[in-house]
Amino acid sequence: MKASNKKAVSVKGKKKPVVAVGRKKQTASLKTAATKRKQIVAAGRKKQAVVARPKVVAKKKQAAPARRKAASKAVQPQAQFDFLKAPAPIPDSKISKTIRTDVVVIGSALSGLSAARAALEAGAKVAVIEKSTDIVYRSSDIGVINCLIDKQIGNIVDPAEIVTVIQDYYHGRTNGELWRYWAENSGAAFDWWLSLIPGYKLVGEDFPIPSETTEVYVRVPHWPHPAPYEPAKEHYKIYTTAHQLMPDMGNALRIVYNKCVEMGGKFAFSTWARQLIRPNNKGRVRGVIAQDKAGNYIKYIARKGVVLCTGDYAGDPRMVERFCPAVAGLYTDWIFPNKDADGVTTQTGDGHKMGMWIGAQMERGPHAPVNHSIGGPLGTDSFLLVNVRGERFMNEDNDGQIFSNAIERQPKNQAFQIFDAKWKEQLECQGISHGMRNAVSSSAQIGVTGGWTSITTEEEVLAAAKTSDTLEGLAKELGLPVDAFLATIKRYNEMAHAGKDTDFYKRPDRLFPVETPPFYGGPTSTALLVVTSGLVVNARCNVCDDNFEPIPGLYAAGNAMGGRFSGEYALAAAGVSHGTALTFGRLAGQEAAKG
Ligand SMILES: Cc1cc2nc3c(=O)[nH]c(=O)nc-3n(C[C@H](O)[C@H](O)[C@H](O)COP(=O)(O)OP(=O)(O)OC[C@H]3O[C@@H](n4cnc5c(N)ncnc54)[C@H](O)[C@@H]3O)c2cc1C
Repeated sequence: MKASNKKAVSVKGKKKPVVAVGRKKQTASLKTAATKRKQIVAAGRKKQAVVARPKVVAKKKQAAPARRKAASKAVQPQAQFDFLKAPAPIPDSKISKTIRTDVVVIGSALSGLSAARAALEAGAKVAVIEKSTDIVYRSSDIGVINCLIDKQIGNIVDPAEIVTVIQDYYHGRTNGELWRYWAENSGAAFDWWLSLIPGYKLVGEDFPIPSETTEVYVRVPHWPHPAPYEPAKEHYKIYTTAHQLMPDMGNALRIVYNKCVEMGGKFAFSTWARQLIRPNNKGRVRGVIAQDKAGNYIKYIARKGVVLCTGDYAGDPRMVERFCPAVAGLYTDWIFPNKDADGVTTQTGDGHKMGMWIGAQMERGPHAPVNHSIGGPLGTDSFLLVNVRGERFMNEDNDGQIFSNAIERQPKNQAFQIFDAKWKEQLECQGISHGMRNAVSSSAQIGVTGGWTSITTEEEVLAAAKTSDTLEGLAKELGLPVDAFLATIKRYNEMAHAGKDTDFYKRPDRLFPVETPPFYGGPTSTALLVVTSGLVVNARCNVCDDNFEPIPGLYAAGNAMGGRFSGEYALAAAGVSHGTALTFGRLAGQEAAKG
């Protein structure tokens, strides 16, 4: 997963990510924000220190079930978190307009547009409420398996195998029925999308995609697999799931939006869903009350259902403290490009909150943050990493998310990727993990075609790295303690020559001595993109209450929906945040339309 790499705009001499929505390009550059990252991480660490500790309020002599309940409350001190308290219902006297429809979809991004289109195709009248000024999207990787393109290129994945690997990854805390559904239906959902775009162009990774175009290009990173890559020798299973819609998802999603409008979908932009309508928190969800930019309240009566496609909550620090404390304080708003019509980040967990207020169950933790790195100058390739102390800290050869997680736990959330003059030939024996590079191209165009590919260019690498003819000089360039750095290199080189990594067990054929000048090094850090956990749903995307009973008339998809991820984001199958938003958005729309 990555941010689009369209060029950042220069503001007062500094590079800043572009953060507009809709037709404006929605871009945030992971690569250009290293300095901002450092400040933010430092600020984040301070904030983390003030996360309140839960009060323990246990009563003696309670019956066993009651005692269990009290204990769980002690761990989850709801009272500290104001957002959990339902606001007073908006009275009818304040409603300026009532709209009656079959299905209301809240959110018009990937999951919401998929839900709206599916419900419209099922014959329902659909209204979509969106707090931004236009449709919302970011980036390009869609994780699906066995779509028509895969069949065409021979990229066939066994659903049973990938679901087992994913469930292992999450230690069984996710909903196996949902993953089976994704494995068996994500390819068809992607085909369904592309059926609206018959003129799409399937291109290779070395195809220079224009940055300004209305065409839709599709490419499959790391496909075909690089010749030296042998899956059987990999420690981490990696599946080729990501299908990139280029130059980003915008052109393709605009086509879905246009189709929804053509089918009669009614979109209200710059409109905030505020409260779900479920009198006394019993029975059906009957609709939603929204508010437009002028402050007018609009009541939407949904005869068949409401679908929450409101995205995640990473931008609400209190929600992160409560539900995803592992990344509390690590949020940065530069990486997430989308704002509502008031300029506030869209990822404020509105759907999660509105759902909980009317009795929906938030899934238990550990919730799953996507705290990502796209790596150093050579991506997440398995070159030597050192931390700010000049010390090595991990087996660098992994699936990409492990790369990020280990860096997140280092001082200052910071590492440096180190390599020498032989890096070009060493690229060829890398794996195909998320963010890995397998080849270098002489074409300067490759690096500017949008998204990243498994191919890099010399210009791109050198722009991200410091260079020196001596190791001591490189340490100074990177601001690392020279003695510690030299000691690390000495030890690493000894192990490389011996063909055995006795410190972290990296496989010998990816263990290269750093000894041929010039020497290179560049920074790599992490950024919290989203939190991919949400409300408990059943296999029909129907939101459930605390007793796991479906709440009639309420559905969720995308990051408002739970059951998909736990504690982690599985990069064995890259792009599945989008892939599940598409697949379950479609399912939620179909189910809501049934009423
Ligand atoms: C920089 C970046 C790059 C990424 N790259 C990838 C990638 O390549 N592959 C991948 O799988 N994942 C990627 N992700 C994660 C992925 O984008 C999201 O997890 C996914 O798109 C979530 O989709 P969604 O439809 O649930 O939510 P969103 O895309 O967040 O959409 C939610 C929508 O609901 C609207 N909304 C919210 N509350 C309200 C309200 N109260 N009223 C009205 N409207 C409301 C929002 O405005 C928004 O339009 C990336 C994330 C980031 C930040």
